Amino acid sequence: MIDRRKILRDGLAGAAGLAALRPGRLLAQGSAFAPPAALTPIIARSDRVFRVTVCLRPFRAAGPRIEMEQFGAKHVVHHYGHGGSGISLSWGSAAEAVPLALATGAREIAVIGAGAIGMTTAITAQRMGAKVTVYTKARYPDIRSARATGSWSPHSRVAMEGATNAAFREKWERMARRSFAIYQSFLGLPGNPVEWVDRYSLSDTPFEKRPHTPITMPNGGTDYFVDYEELVKDLTPLQQAVPAGMHPFRAPFVRQTTTLMYNVADYFHQLESDFQLAGGRFVPLDLHGPEDFSKIREKTIVNCTGFGARDLLGDQSVIPVRGQIAWLLPQAGVNYGVSRPEGELAIYVMTRRHLRKARNITQNPNVSLVVPLPRRLLWFLPPATIQLYGRAEIVDWTDEGGTDVFRRFWMGRRILSGYRGFHRRGETRICFLKITPDPVIHTYLVGASIWRVRKRLESGTAIVVIPRETPGG
Ligand SMILES: Cc1cc2nc3c(=O)[nH]c(=O)nc-3n(C[C@H](O)[C@H](O)[C@H](O)COP(=O)(O)OP(=O)(O)OC[C@H]3O[C@@H](n4cnc5c(N)ncnc54)[C@H](O)[C@@H]3O)c2cc1C
Repeated sequence: MIDRRKILRDGLAGAAGLAALRPGRLLAQGSAFAPPAALTPIIARSDRVFRVTVCLRPFRAAGPRIEMEQFGAKHVVHHYGHGGSGISLSWGSAAEAVPLALATGAREIAVIGAGAIGMTTAITAQRMGAKVTVYTKARYPDIRSARATGSWSPHSRVAMEGATNAAFREKWERMARRSFAIYQSFLGLPGNPVEWVDRYSLSDTPFEKRPHTPITMPNGGTDYFVDYEELVKDLTPLQQAVPAGMHPFRAPFVRQTTTLMYNVADYFHQLESDFQLAGGRFVPLDLHGPEDFSKIREKTIVNCTGFGARDLLGDQSVIPVRGQIAWLLPQAGVNYGVSRPEGELAIYVMTRRHLRKARNITQNPNVSLVVPLPRRLLWFLPPATIQLYGRAEIVDWTDEGGTDVFRRFWMGRRILSGYRGFHRRGETRICFLKITPDPVIHTYLVGASIWRVRKRLESGTAIVVIPRETPGG
């Protein structure tokens, strides 16, 4: 039997998938050098994907929250909401947050959270002379930061234009430059926690600055992600066109640059051991609300809970922005990254034109879908759901986008081959329903704590905004 829910799920995952690629070699150009050695082609097949991680960027339209709030006797410096640039901005962001904590006069500081922001905050506070304890419900690898791509992306999905001003722009630049400088101190360490790698971008059309894509906001209005690339472009080498014959890619336009990459596992081991070597301590603690700040001994606390701040403080300004990575097996000789501009996200259903769902779409292309996500554990509870609205169209069954999505998974290949059989026997009505979802997607119970939902049903709802732009941090 055809499992259409699985097709939807896998189709959605496949269409949104990104490959996490590892690191680089410099392309030598110029008359003094022989042409560069050929690059080893990447074997990017779905059977070599050993892990797929889904994790949402802790995004705030106004950018990261870095400010002090008083809770009874506790001084709490909030430090969360870094969107798709948390690892990249972390050191600079910590340099803004830690002085606020030290200004209370405290020399013993508590940090909540052991993600990229918590660990860099803790180490920065130690370097400024404080004794630091990290209270956290999870450490590497059970943290969201462990699922990041790990590239230098300080301007990726960090804030919206309409919610920020010139002062934020200046602060962002300060944070980015400070972080970049600190990252240089990790180069050459054993395990290569941070390294420079080559990146190739491929395109079917000449590269040009792409126009800003408007994003539909949860309130229905539109806004744009801030675009600060120009402010720090002096930090990294310029992109260069790579002429045909100098690269192995099947693309008419290729550009190359060299960028910083964090090898997330080595980087987190380095952060944790640096922190502990400087006398830092981890204390397991799961806080359920601001009243739990009283469980922490220190009077001054830096709250680095990332997306967790939404539940902890009821802060609805933190919203999840999509993120998914398919991890390819490491491959000898592949030490560079490659990316293509992303296609539009679409969901494909294979069917026949005379059936009711296809006929309905001809009359009204506006569709809504509820996709249940079955649970492996706690199967007796209601499933988490993804609720999508979008526009549907009927496209031919040979459509490249649709067949490409189905070819990527076992059941999809079975379905394609079944329909090919029908076609050979004379069936001419085979088609794909192509659904292009609205950027605002509603979810229930996805990534939400069952424990919290038990107490407050509405805490299970969330909105995910799919930005239509190129992949990055
Ligand atoms: C797919 C994807 C790719 C990305 N790629 C990049 C990239 O290439 N470069 C880049 O710079 N950024 C990237 N990002 C963004 C980056 O991962 C985040 O901005 C960053 O990880 C946020 O770090 P954090 O420390 O704030 O959050 P987290 O890593 O979520 O850490 C939060 C910590 O707080 C703890 N915590 C939470 N709630 C509580 C509570 N109630 N009680 C106790 N402890 C609590 C957690 O256990 C955890 O230790 C990417 C994100 C995604 C999703």
